[in-house]
Amino acid sequence: MTVTNAPVRADLAATDDIGWAVRLLAATPTHEHRDPQLLRRWARAADDFGAALAPVACEARIVERDGGLELGLLARYTSRPPTVELYTDTIDLAERVVDARGWRDWYPPGSVRAAALAHEAVHVHLHHGPAKAALKRALGHTALRLGRLRVPGHVAGAEEVAAHAYARTVCGLGRSPLLLTAALAAEAEGTPTPPPARDARREN
Ligand SMILES: [Zn+2]
Repeated sequence: MTVTNAPVRADLAATDDIGWAVRLLAATPTHEHRDPQLLRRWARAADDFGAALAPVACEARIVERDGGLELGLLARYTSRPPTVELYTDTIDLAERVVDARGWRDWYPPGSVRAAALAHEAVHVHLHHGPAKAALKRALGHTALRLGRLRVPGHVAGAEEVAAHAYARTVCGLGRSPLLLTAALAAEAEGTPTPPPARDARREN
């Protein structure tokens, strides 16, 4: 499917950033039967956490390559060795989608690449530093109680929401890149309202 002959375009932008974050969480394994209100709370907490993160430099090696459309990836972080891969074909498509949907005010030229780098920098940051525990605390999900001891639980997908919120903030975008990933998924699948694409398949 190409950008120009896509079928009727759903107005993906009518769903706000938190709404897309909720959809991302809902589409993430382990959350299938969660209370939508709980997912919304987690989405907000993860978005707030990412938006408030101090700017982090990307310390990983950066590699640009082709083949992202085939893999369904725009960028990804792999930890051994720490590497951020940017898929130039998907980034190019995303820039065309921005124009086709009239979203240029939200995503200035070149911002897709910048947002992808910022997003992956958060994965690097959370993988290597204490911020991961801080995110868990912010989410407030208790996996286990042992007497007075609370063991904070992992919320699958929350890091993804935080990374998108961080990218939106540091790149000064009008909307979260999460909206753009949803539009990319719609291009790829030809379906009007798919769950947003995941940028990375690795789990922590
Ligand atoms: Zn990610």
